[in-house]
Amino acid sequence: MSNSPISFEFFPPQTNEGVEKLTLARGKLAALNPEFFSVTFGAGGSTRDRTLETVTQIKAEGFDAAPHLSCVGSTRENIRAILKTYQDAGISRIVALRGDLPSGMATAGEFQYANELVEFIRAETGDHFHLEVAAYPEFHPQAKSAHDDILNFKRKIDAGANSAITQYFYNADSYFHFMDECQKLGITAPIVPGIMPIVRFSQLARFSDACGAEIPRWMRKTMEGFGDDNESVQAFGRDIVTRMCERLLAGGAPGLHFYTLNQSAPCIRIIEGLSL
Ligand code: FAD
Repeated sequence: MSNSPISFEFFPPQTNEGVEKLTLARGKLAALNPEFFSVTFGAGGSTRDRTLETVTQIKAEGFDAAPHLSCVGSTRENIRAILKTYQDAGISRIVALRGDLPSGMATAGEFQYANELVEFIRAETGDHFHLEVAAYPEFHPQAKSAHDDILNFKRKIDAGANSAITQYFYNADSYFHFMDECQKLGITAPIVPGIMPIVRFSQLARFSDACGAEIPRWMRKTMEGFGDDNESVQAFGRDIVTRMCERLLAGGAPGLHFYTLNQSAPCIRIIEGLSL
């Protein structure tokens, strides 16, 4: 098991049953002594109340909670009100994002990119919040070029972000290359790899197609070959992801952030399997 800082990401549950399941999962993950739990935010504010409820619950359990906050489609007034609510709730860390509006939803809003949100939060609340931003070792799907994407990432750091969490990936070299490029630009903020445990191949393939994270061909082919045998998919995924986490930490990654999908077991198996 690793001594590096770890954090876990949840989505805000929609039902009472979901809330109970998440409370149980969180209890198990808490035993691993995470640095914080983060909670996603539906673009356009669709989960605003549920994100707040979930982070409030996490705080009440005595853990550091970091709500995500996406700005696309929002006004300054909306964001100002949310920041105030978070400050009043004792929150001191935010994951600041642009977000993606669902297709068909109007884009009228006062923020275009996440660097503008970071700048706004700093202008409104000074150093109150530790700000995390997103980074893309395999590059954001809308980026004009790889280099542009890194320059755009730098804008967020220059605007006042303290650290970053990456989109998930299954190719450690993409992370190391990204780190080298950031270093060349003088970026010293910690960039923590985002880790997606493999639970179901069809679900992972869907997510990956949407967010531009690559499932390497050899992994895709192997998992396709397992067909309905999900146990084999999970055993294969656990092994691959655990070895990748070891490589990332050995290569200098400052911690690991897990996309839990509100499940504890897949993350626990990976973390317990780390031999560092
Ligand atoms: P930005 O940093 O604004 O980048 C978006 C695109 O615009 C990139 O292609 C970039 O190169 C380009 N760009 C950036 N700045 C400029 C500029 N000034 N001029 C020109 N081009 C620019 N989504 C949610 O809705 N809710 C969540 O809770 C959520 N959590 C996430 C957590 C993590 C760790 C990650 C990695 C992603 C998360 N996402 C979430 C997804 C995220 O909102 C999408 O990936 C979104 O498309 C981009 O958000 P961003 O903050 O990276 O945007």
